[in-house]
Amino acid sequence: MPARNILVINCGSSSIKFALVNEEQPQFALSGLAERLGSPDAQVQWQHNGNKDSLILPHADHRSALAQVLPLVQTAAGGQLHGIGHRVVHGGEHFTSACLLDALSLAAIRATAPLAPLHNPANLLGIEAAIKLFPDLPQVAVFDTAFHQTLPEHAFRYALPDALYREHGVRRYGFHGTSHRFVSQRAAEISGLDYQHSSWLVAHLGNGCSTCAVVDGQSRDTSMGLTPLEGVVMGTRSGDVDPNLHSHLARTLGWSLERIDAVLNKESGLLGLSGLSNDMRSLEEARAQGHPGATLAIEVFCYRLAKSLAAMSCALQHLDGLIFTGGIGENSALIRSKTVAHLRLLNLSLDESANARTVRGASGAIHAQGHSRVMVVPTNEERQIALDTLTLIEA
Ligand code: ADP
Repeated sequence: MPARNILVINCGSSSIKFALVNEEQPQFALSGLAERLGSPDAQVQWQHNGNKDSLILPHADHRSALAQVLPLVQTAAGGQLHGIGHRVVHGGEHFTSACLLDALSLAAIRATAPLAPLHNPANLLGIEAAIKLFPDLPQVAVFDTAFHQTLPEHAFRYALPDALYREHGVRRYGFHGTSHRFVSQRAAEISGLDYQHSSWLVAHLGNGCSTCAVVDGQSRDTSMGLTPLEGVVMGTRSGDVDPNLHSHLARTLGWSLERIDAVLNKESGLLGLSGLSNDMRSLEEARAQGHPGATLAIEVFCYRLAKSLAAMSCALQHLDGLIFTGGIGENSALIRSKTVAHLRLLNLSLDESANARTVRGASGAIHAQGHSRVMVVPTNEERQIALDTLTLIEA
């Protein structure tokens, strides 16, 4: 059987990220981004076999942008496209793994929208457009939350009145599950350990950041909660704050809920602390020039991250390794070094030359001899979504 091709789609409210994944090729034959959809500046840009190209598509919506991408996909796949995998942010308690898209599963994703009012409706736009354009192809939804459905109740419940959970689904769900699953599996593979009998701490550090405890191939705790705002410091999200902050800001500053929401999600985190940028590369450069805001943002980021990892260690009986992934985790020797420096009690310490070397897509161990394993493992959510899609198509 020739190697199969899966188109992976990740839809935002005004954007579509796409990648064509071949099960045997490590590189994507085609990848791209349609952005500013619905606006006069809508455009799509893509890379095919290393060549970049773009097209302006004024006022294009999700469907017309996907229709433009379609011939590119067919060419890159040599006419052999076997299925489509969609990233869906929230699967609630209904979805414990990926699912084939049909009328029933679509209705269940729609019903989950109140838990992710910004994300799930956008994901559905992409799914509906793709089903119209490719009615005969099997299509699969892969959920960011599904991997965390194995959290024990003592880890997923908030200490709130029971009815808020039973009647309104208020609990911790967790996100980035596809990435935590992919890198923990890879780390076990690289280390020659049996994934089903291994214990990991994972730090996924991109624009959004989260930590996870993975035991015997299952998520046992994670830092994000009901929404992706909970947990560690992120690019523009605050992570954990005192829950009374909302009433404090409303009372003392007269801020509306919408304003508080926007400040915590879009103006906080690295951006808020530094007053400069949400981008870690820029902050590292500014810190090197002595910028006090950038310096503070990096200190808070690393300390809070270490605290979260230490908290996650409560879910482990032993530690096979700490894994860094995501743009920051894969590239920033500084952040890895500063974070691990707070974790001496977990017997963690880095080999600083291995740490400095392991960047830009490299994977491997970076711990000092005689200390617990620390690894850098580049994430690949698109490949994991394609693998899940293939598994369901086969079944
Ligand atoms: P997303 O969550 O959007 O997929 P990424 O995983 O690409 O984000 O991560 C983006 C973050 O990674 C940004 O803060 C960026 O500055 C950071 N990053 C990328 N390369 C480096 C680098 N060489 N050093 C430090 N940070 C980096």
